[in-house]
Amino acid sequence: MTGTLSNTLKEIFGYDTFREYQQQIIENLIDGNDSFVLMPTGGGKSLCYQIPALHRSGVAIVISPLISLMKDQVDALVACGVRAAFYNSSLKGSEAKRVLAMLHSGELDLLYIAPERLMSDEFIIRLRDIPISLFAIDEAHCISQWGHDFRPEYRKLGELRRYFGGIPVIALTATAEPHTRKDILDRLQLNSAKHYITGFDRPNIRYTVLDKQKPMKQLKLFLSEKGSESGIVYCLSRKRVEKVSEQLVEAGISAAPYHAGLSSGNRKKVQDDFLRDEVQIIVATVAFGMGIDKSNIRYVVHYDIPKNIESYYQETGRAGRDGLPSEALLLFGYGDIQVARGLIEKTRNPEHKRIELHKLNAMVGFAESLGCRRRVLLGYFGEKLEEDCGNCDICLNPPEMIDVTEDSRKALSCVYRVGQRFGAGHVIDVLRGSRKERILSLGHDKLSTYGIGESESQEYWGGILRHLVHQGYLSQDVGNYSVLKLTDAAPPLLRGEIQFEMARPRVRKTPEVKRKTIGRDEPDYDLNLFELLRTMRKDIADRAGVPPFVIFHDRTLVELAAYRPESLDTLMEIHGVGKSKCAKYGNEILDTVRSYSESSLNSK
Ligand code: ADP
Ligand code: ZN
Repeated sequence: MTGTLSNTLKEIFGYDTFREYQQQIIENLIDGNDSFVLMPTGGGKSLCYQIPALHRSGVAIVISPLISLMKDQVDALVACGVRAAFYNSSLKGSEAKRVLAMLHSGELDLLYIAPERLMSDEFIIRLRDIPISLFAIDEAHCISQWGHDFRPEYRKLGELRRYFGGIPVIALTATAEPHTRKDILDRLQLNSAKHYITGFDRPNIRYTVLDKQKPMKQLKLFLSEKGSESGIVYCLSRKRVEKVSEQLVEAGISAAPYHAGLSSGNRKKVQDDFLRDEVQIIVATVAFGMGIDKSNIRYVVHYDIPKNIESYYQETGRAGRDGLPSEALLLFGYGDIQVARGLIEKTRNPEHKRIELHKLNAMVGFAESLGCRRRVLLGYFGEKLEEDCGNCDICLNPPEMIDVTEDSRKALSCVYRVGQRFGAGHVIDVLRGSRKERILSLGHDKLSTYGIGESESQEYWGGILRHLVHQGYLSQDVGNYSVLKLTDAAPPLLRGEIQFEMARPRVRKTPEVKRKTIGRDEPDYDLNLFELLRTMRKDIADRAGVPPFVIFHDRTLVELAAYRPESLDTLMEIHGVGKSKCAKYGNEILDTVRSYSESSLNSK
């Protein structure tokens, strides 16, 4: 392939400019050097080896952990007119033969393959006779036991060097954790690789954390703003997944459950329906998501707290790969921390336990932050933001501090009255004057603090007690039924010598401010035309047997609905429209746009 890199970018992929580092990485690889690329999800890692594959002679071998991922990537490349195929266990005998024949006759620019296939003796011998342009190892963190997705079959890739010295290798990942990073370099023998590490910020994702109070109600309210857009709801357990999904379906929302307990056929169907925009929402455990390349996921909800910031970052990162505004909502309940802590406590290895607890605390710190969420999030990965982000719940709606000195005194004194032998639930029952049998049988209805907090809700008192724990006025014995005790700091507050403030609990999301443009510009566009184009895209995708986002990204539809191109030439200017897609779908698009413009003229 001749021509400049920018030509390839425009004509094949339909994009105007390279993103940060893409061009350097591509040039380094074309020059025959190794690269290590650390870029967030949606950063544009694939182009970093796809373009070199078109500019170097021979076939590029792309190693990818998941069959579904390979298929989507290959479908997307073929839609752009690139000679790509995959070779894995999902192929029937005749298809596999066809792919091998193309490989041997030099008809492929890219071959996607699973690591165990590649590293089999048979395949290594086969590759000896074939000119190879490069090796690209996608999701390279799968090679590390430190990473969250260790795959034993990735281990063998360590021998790649031995068999194929001299062929450039590019390893790509979105996992920033330093141990994992070092492991990747060591195991793949990438000592002389050039490193390309981009920032981890995902400016188009808006982070919001709400106090988890009536979670189903909060979730439905959030979803009610989402129309027919796609999203993921993560839950901590399979049981919770089933329940939440059921409740959404009952409410007439298009949702389906996904967890490791379902049959693989069932899981595959759910995933396909989601990719094809036939199911709007997946309710899932963390088992779902790796290898989901769907670019138009508009929101990710955490119904329960994730176990650490790495998982949170990764899971929320599945939203908005196309760079359009997207949302991450976390419902943060203190009960969930106990559950998560309980799970960690079961870990045998004391060192692991210590690390996991530390990570969970960092996650809680993020959720409780009174400052910009993005600062906390990026700070965790060692990245510093110059200013507050302006696109998180705290920036958009700064916390309001309220003086709760009186109520905190009531709460402390109630802890004292019940003998510092009970947990928060019991203390709250006493404060609110509960008639529960246990309260009566203990005679706690005779205490002076019984019923003194009747006028406030259970959640309110929960908030007060939590803040007292966090500010060090109360201690909570996690190993012993979470019993609350006063600390040495409590007496001055009890005596009213100091003030106590807390942020007003956040239960509802800030009302949607007008869809704000973030990062890349989003033009004003006609929503009805957008919907029409969406339907057209779904038709095309169904005919081609691929998911809609493989045909066009949302971003392309947005630009079409904004600029309404009238000729194939102007159509080529649209983001994501290259020569091949223009030739295949150009007329259908122009017809759709034209007939819409005419009908809206007529109706005026
Ligand atoms: P990653 O593998 O890093 O998660 P992808 O390679 O899937 O990300 O890229 C994310 C999205 O960004 C894809 O839709 C891709 O086509 C798009 N993209 C990549 N590079 C560019 C670019 N230079 N200009 C516009 N869009 C791009
Ligand atoms: Zn912010």
